[in-house]
Amino acid sequence: MAAPKYQAPRGTFDVLPESARVRGRIERTAAEIFSRAGYEPIATPNFEDTALFERGVGHSTDIVRKEMFTFEDKGGRSLTLRPEGTAPICRAYVEHGMQQLAQPVKLSYHGPFFRHERPQAGRYRQFHQLGIEAIGTESPLADAEVIELLAELLAELGVPGVELRLGSLGSLETRQAYLEELKAHLRAHEDELAKEVRERIEINPLRAFDSDDAGTQAVMATAPKLVERLEGDDAEHFAEVRALLDAAGVEYTIDPTLVRGLDYYTRTIFSFVCDRLGAQSEIGGGGRYDGLVEQLGGRPTPAVGWAAGIERIMLALDEEVAADGRDVFIAVAEDDQAKRRLAMVLVGELRKAGLSAELDLAGRALKGQLKQADRIGARRVLILDDEGAQLRDMASGEQRQVDTGKLVDEITGGEA
Ligand code: AMP
Repeated sequence: MAAPKYQAPRGTFDVLPESARVRGRIERTAAEIFSRAGYEPIATPNFEDTALFERGVGHSTDIVRKEMFTFEDKGGRSLTLRPEGTAPICRAYVEHGMQQLAQPVKLSYHGPFFRHERPQAGRYRQFHQLGIEAIGTESPLADAEVIELLAELLAELGVPGVELRLGSLGSLETRQAYLEELKAHLRAHEDELAKEVRERIEINPLRAFDSDDAGTQAVMATAPKLVERLEGDDAEHFAEVRALLDAAGVEYTIDPTLVRGLDYYTRTIFSFVCDRLGAQSEIGGGGRYDGLVEQLGGRPTPAVGWAAGIERIMLALDEEVAADGRDVFIAVAEDDQAKRRLAMVLVGELRKAGLSAELDLAGRALKGQLKQADRIGARRVLILDDEGAQLRDMASGEQRQVDTGKLVDEITGGEA
């Protein structure tokens, strides 16, 4: 019987070297921007207690209701592959007493996340996010700073066609009062709504703004908007965030229908969309979550942050990053033990000196080795033959005899 052929699970993908190079550029650019702004890396486990997400992300959200990969471990505990990064980071903030540190605590992260969604372009079941959080500050400066950093990241990466949409949900109280008003509006137009929306008037009325259904959209066009209900401190906070973004030269449009699929947001919410992405047009987004840390057992702690999808950035960039090439490829003219051993020693010396070097691992004839050197973009080939060692410059074709005892100096001109 033929052995079965295995494939990566539905909605997941293998990161092959070509794509890993693009990811590498994105992650390095982000790491530099985060570090210059003082956002320190944090890493939390890939799975957590299921209750953390139920409580943190919210029972009524699609993520918790439909999309979590939840399983029981051998001890009977319910665990969930993390669908998002903010609840785990707030858990870590509380667990490690980070409220004792100077506030805000500014953190950055990147890694895999898991949602059982219907796979399509830009939407996967295992995907990767990078993001930042500023925990322990209510200042609109923090909102503006995190937004500016995402704008800067997308600009520095060269992501085309990006637009920032900005909204505010107000405080929990404003939002609650508004939600009652919105539910009343939806109930008054129940017959015109899509079934999905009708069934969720009580649990998640805000999602009605996201509906594709024409009837629902008509009802939502006349619905009260939360940004028009902001009062007092909430209105002032939102105005200040806008003024700061204006001062920083970050362009945005106010979107009164903006909602996010997680329950924890308060006040500022934002979304960066890209016109190259089709249906899954959001490249990154986030907002303020002033109630979450307390919800997870900490002291009341205002916070703000965002996450961006690495695959969405890659789709928008649609680029290739060339491989680095190699400084030296070591070839042996005849396959004898002494030359193989010398090649092994020399390749080690070159690498220790900080040069990139490879040798033939496939037992190729000399011609095949030279071809391989060309394939990997080697700038020089060192050929070990009966005369000693010849160093060939691949661009010019020039070749000269070298002393293998001083190989590093021969190559770097003594500068290594
Ligand atoms: P969220 O955590 O839902 O606010 O999503 C933040 C970002 O993660 C989005 O803007 C997307 O770029 C990315 N993202 C979310 N879900 C997926 C998914 N299933 N596949 C790929 N990227 C995703």
